[in-house]
Amino acid sequence: MAAVDLMKCACDKCLCIVKVETAIDRDGKHYCSEACAEGHKTITGCGHSGCGCSE
Ligand SMILES: [Zn+2]
Ligand SMILES: [Zn+2]
Ligand SMILES: [Zn+2]
Repeated sequence: MAAVDLMKCACDKCLCIVKVETAIDRDGKHYCSEACAEGHKTITGCGHSGCGCSE
């Protein structure tokens, strides 16, 4: 059985769990969304309610 590579979004405040194969790859880290990948410089939140970066 193949292991599914799940990891937490690399954004500190984000609680999302992302699949490595579908995650946004940025500098070797995996993010759930473009917003988290860019460090929320221009985009707020990740599109999921309940995450710290959505506030
Ligand atoms: Zn999130
Ligand atoms: Zn995220
Ligand atoms: Zn985030």
